[in-house]
Amino acid sequence: MDLDLVFLGTSGSVPTARRAPSGLLVRRGGERLLFDCGEGTQRQLLRSTIGLVELPEVFLTHYHADHYLGLPGMMKTFALRGREVPLTIYGPPGLVDLFSALQRIFGKLTYAYDLVELRPGDALERDGYRIGVFRVHHGHSSNGYALVEAPRAGEFNMDAATALGVPIGPLFGALQRGETVTGADGSPVRPEQVLGPPRPGRKIVLTGDTRPARSVVDAASGADVLLHEATFAGEERERAAETGHSTALDAAALAREAGVKMLVLTHLSNRYFGPEIAREARTVFPETFVPRDFDMIDVPFPERGAPRLVKGGALERREEAEPSGHGASRTDPRPDGGGGDPGDPRGGGDTLGAAVRGRAPSGRAR
Ligand SMILES: [Zn+2]
Ligand SMILES: [Zn+2]
Repeated sequence: MDLDLVFLGTSGSVPTARRAPSGLLVRRGGERLLFDCGEGTQRQLLRSTIGLVELPEVFLTHYHADHYLGLPGMMKTFALRGREVPLTIYGPPGLVDLFSALQRIFGKLTYAYDLVELRPGDALERDGYRIGVFRVHHGHSSNGYALVEAPRAGEFNMDAATALGVPIGPLFGALQRGETVTGADGSPVRPEQVLGPPRPGRKIVLTGDTRPARSVVDAASGADVLLHEATFAGEERERAAETGHSTALDAAALAREAGVKMLVLTHLSNRYFGPEIAREARTVFPETFVPRDFDMIDVPFPERGAPRLVKGGALERREEAEPSGHGASRTDPRPDGGGGDPGDPRGGGDTLGAAVRGRAPSGRAR
């Protein structure tokens, strides 16, 4: 079953010319799960090969504006198109409260929506996987999410089955489903006689915004992909601590400790282009990637290879061919590791930091 991640927004706090605020689409088989919905997420979907599909579920990590502002607009568009498919929105406690305000923006809808508040320790059991909720540290109401697939049946040993007198055909399928069948000589053949040990499923862990946290190491243990925020580089660790965020070095150290296969860094402050964040993290954890918007990560079953970054994988060819476009252009001179946003002002005012310096007493960095 295919499993991939589509990056719709990889910027922290504010959009830049090349990066939208947080949005990640997880596709597993025919399922589509959206995690966070920053401003402009619906347009990012429209620009991608995915299109603005009638997503059935949206998961919010927390209620800073850069993670949900796209939701009322997208919900309104769905209504203007006459959507009837219900929508479920999950988020930490405070979701119902948030929607009492958002409801005034999108008004009357053509479809029903459900609000489900989830707390760390909660889990949604699905067909073949579960979505676990874990604690992160970024204000009082924030969730991390872990998509964990159930173990799969072991590899089928055709030679063993044939030797036990099972004819090639439907009985093979029955054994794979865990049923006992009858061999040619009339004796029973049990699944464990022809199946190898159960094979692990895949595990994707997504932190949303967080300062470095022990709970993330625990949740991410052995994950195929850890998506961690890296708002800052190590030089800004004080600001990261002040604002409840992580540095690239923090995330890399966590990834190493958790023994993940791949670390993916997002939510970059607009002072960074990406490659510098990737370079720094790779000094600690070499398998680090910093995707740009519309990049994808393919996560095959472990026996079929490691997760891999597909640059511009969610863009139409015509977009890739634009001279100033980004993505999988073959002539792209920028260094590997993703990130370069040449249209953005270099160090052009880290508004996240600025907001902290000039904030009202109750202010909080997004
Ligand atoms: Zn944020
Ligand atoms: Zn935040």
